[in-house]
Amino acid sequence: MPLLISGKTTCGLCSKIIGKDDEVFAVPPLIYNSLDPLFNYNDSVFHAKCAKENVDFKKLAQLIVLWEKRSAGKISFLSGKPITIPEDFFSFPYLGDDPQLAKISFQVCNKHELSKWPELPNIIRKLEDLQSSGVWNREVLAKFMTELRIFISYHAFA
Ligand SMILES: [Zn+2]
Repeated sequence: MPLLISGKTTCGLCSKIIGKDDEVFAVPPLIYNSLDPLFNYNDSVFHAKCAKENVDFKKLAQLIVLWEKRSAGKISFLSGKPITIPEDFFSFPYLGDDPQLAKISFQVCNKHELSKWPELPNIIRKLEDLQSSGVWNREVLAKFMTELRIFISYHAFA
C-alpha cells in the first residue's frame, strides 16, 4: 500500500498536505497498463473528499474492491485451492472491460494449473487482439503474454 506520513504526504489530486484527521482514500499499485487513464492514480493517497469529487474514482473504488476480493485470500480461481508455495503464485493484471478478460482480471492461481486450463488459448487470442488495439502498453502486455505462452507449450506436450 502507498506510504502515508501524516502531515507530510500530499494528496494526489489537490496537492495539499493530508492532515492526521483527514479521511484518506488509498490506491494500491493495481494498474499495470501505463496507457490506462487510471494508471497515474496508482500507489498514491488522496483526501477522501477529493476522491469523491473525482469522476474516475468511482471506477477505481470498484476495482480496489475487486482486487481485494480476488487476490487477498491467495485462493486459486481455477481450482479453489489455496496457493501455499510463493513460487507457484501467478496473478492476472487488470485487463480492462472486455467481459471475458474482466472475469480474469486480478485473479490468482497456482501456475501449475495454467497448462491444464482449457480457456488459456482463447485468453491468449483475446490478449493478442488487445495488443493490436493500441489501448495497452505493448511492452508490458507482451511480457505478460510471453509468461502465459510458456504454459500453452506445456499444454501441447502434456
Ligand atoms: Zn486533496
